Amino acid sequence: MRIFDPHIHMTSRTTDDYRAMYEAGVRALVEPSFWLGQPRTSPASFFDYFDALLGWEPFRASQYGIAHHCTLALNPKEANDPRCTPVLDALPRYLEKDGVVAVGEIGYDSMTPAEDHALAAQLQLAADHQLPALVHTPHRDKLAGLHRTIDVVRESNLPPEFVLLDHLNETTVEAAADSGCWAGFSIYPDTKMDEDRMVAILQNHGTEKMIVNSAADWGRSDPLKTRKVADAMLKAGFTEDDVDQVLWRNPVAFYGQSGRLQLDVAAPDPLHEGNSILRGGE
Ligand SMILES: [Zn+2]
Repeated sequence: MRIFDPHIHMTSRTTDDYRAMYEAGVRALVEPSFWLGQPRTSPASFFDYFDALLGWEPFRASQYGIAHHCTLALNPKEANDPRCTPVLDALPRYLEKDGVVAVGEIGYDSMTPAEDHALAAQLQLAADHQLPALVHTPHRDKLAGLHRTIDVVRESNLPPEFVLLDHLNETTVEAAADSGCWAGFSIYPDTKMDEDRMVAILQNHGTEKMIVNSAADWGRSDPLKTRKVADAMLKAGFTEDDVDQVLWRNPVAFYGQSGRLQLDVAAPDPLHEGNSILRGGE
């Protein structure tokens, strides 16, 4: 079984996670840039983070046989902080880089005017760079947030097939599917979606344009949720081809629109800019 995790924050995870993911079948992933849990105080802090998502983290993933890509953006929460918004002006030069397969995570957190501006501006950046966009839907006021998100996507120059609406659930799947966008589901250990609810959604709505991710980060989360959904699908009677479509071909088709997916992992270099994962010793 081959698995593509289209949304996981590996910066927050350990090398044990990389090993376990490889053993579970994960061969490729996308790491979206996001909120670190505490506020950044300057754009420079974003740039160091973006550089790590383009350099150190793909290096670390390659040591475990996993192809790493990223999405870059000013995240919805920090779009409200005037100390951070100059990141928007620097994004064009980052979006030129080979490892960037989409603009993201963008979208709404609290649905403020500053978030309206950042979302519209970054959808335009995606259109300008012919990149897809990973759009986070709000955790509160989910359905209202989704409708507003879809309205902004419709008013943008980015076609809906270039948009992945993420963190969906039973209340938002219908509207997301009707919009023509791709539908993303984050499977968490104790909140939002779990694997059995995910299987029920696939039974009710089919497997076209459906994408499943672990969204594992620094909070309570599980980087093996993609595999657990695959196993639950098989148990519920889905075929191996259905599983391959949802866990591999769909995310490959979505991010492949960037023209930048690189699914073969080259033999890993022992060093990245003179540093190894062995911390200098051994
Ligand atoms: Zn995320």
